Amino acid sequence: MNIDSIHNGFVIDHIKSGQGMVIYRLLHLEDLDCSIAIIKNAASSKMGKKDIIKIDANFHLDLDVLGYIDPDITINVIKDGQLTGKLHLELPERLTNVITCRNPRCITSVEQEIDHIFKLTDKENRIYRCVYCESKAKKQR
Ligand SMILES: [Zn+2]
Repeated sequence: MNIDSIHNGFVIDHIKSGQGMVIYRLLHLEDLDCSIAIIKNAASSKMGKKDIIKIDANFHLDLDVLGYIDPDITINVIKDGQLTGKLHLELPERLTNVITCRNPRCITSVEQEIDHIFKLTDKENRIYRCVYCESKAKKQR
């Protein structure tokens, strides 16, 4: 894989086509002032089309967010311009303040200070439910 221009950071690969921007938003990449490249609809022999995100910064990458989006995403760790490792993802059991509950009657809609916590209740279908009101999380697209 071509990791040019990344010296210390991450190349997030095998993102399903179209989900690059969802990840950008959920990881709050707009807050970073390093160079970031999003490649949309790259050709992939395995997937047909895929998105790739390259981030030239050694920041704390939230693996729960990425595991929630898609545990099949590959993360390449780049140090001094060399690929030094790959991180593997799992579906997280709990998500705290990653997604928000849409139920207007949920306590998280009423109380501003409360954490939005979702629990994985169905691993096979990747269903998350709010721990307070049990509302199903909407799929991120
Ligand atoms: Zn709720």
